[in-house]
Amino acid sequence: MYCTECGQQISPTVKACPGCGCPLSANGKADARTTDIFAILAFASFMMGFWLLPILFVPAGYIFCIVSKYRLKENPQLKGRWLQLTAAILGIGEMLYLFHTLNVSPFSQQ
Ligand SMILES: [Zn+2]
Repeated sequence: MYCTECGQQISPTVKACPGCGCPLSANGKADARTTDIFAILAFASFMMGFWLLPILFVPAGYIFCIVSKYRLKENPQLKGRWLQLTAAILGIGEMLYLFHTLNVSPFSQQ
């Protein structure tokens, strides 16, 4: 088999390419294409929060976002930095939207 990153011929039994250090999973494929699940969860939570229980999904989204940030820092081969950043921006926007919604009293509308 060949390394997906540098193309060097490598043994299927090794865990990482000896040439470039690219990590390899058990089936021989590089792990580099994996997107961090917490970045996906953060993005999904903030999207959900726009039309369903923002009081629940916004804090959840922030927790996922922070977990994702640490996971991405510790695992450089993980993807999802842009997704995590997009989620963070979405979260800030949603936070402002949430504060706006909470400030509007139902009595002031009539
Ligand atoms: Zn390699």
